[in-house]
Amino acid sequence: MSIKRKPGRPYAKNSRSITVPHRMTREENRMLRLKAALYTNSNTSELIRQAVMSFSREVSMPCMEVGCSGNMKLVPTSDQVLVHVGSNQHEIKIDEMPIYECERCGNQEIDLKFAAEVETIVDEEVGFLLNQRKEVPLVINFNDLMTV
Ligand SMILES: [Zn+2]
Repeated sequence: MSIKRKPGRPYAKNSRSITVPHRMTREENRMLRLKAALYTNSNTSELIRQAVMSFSREVSMPCMEVGCSGNMKLVPTSDQVLVHVGSNQHEIKIDEMPIYECERCGNQEIDLKFAAEVETIVDEEVGFLLNQRKEVPLVINFNDLMTV
């Protein structure tokens, strides 16, 4: 007996199995559909993928240090993330993780929402690697997490 494969999409090595629901206004949805129709053969997922791939922005914020009116920009640094695997904890070093640093006084600030998201992502990556029976690295370069 053979198992019949459904016709249609071929098997993908890295399948797009994750759906990402987002709230949009009627106008934003209209723009998404029109841009998809113009640029990606009406494939809104493809348009979003391409938009995410090409998105980049310079960000800065005012320094919070008393008496300093400097400007804080993102600079690469190293950080540690604690990952829980079963009842064990692993410390993973994250190289080149962006952190805000004041151009005038050197004060450093971590964006807590961002740091929490990195921790969640690293936790997911470790879970994925363990699921694949692959070795968990001691060091992860942040830029490797920003690629596909
Ligand atoms: Zn400062």
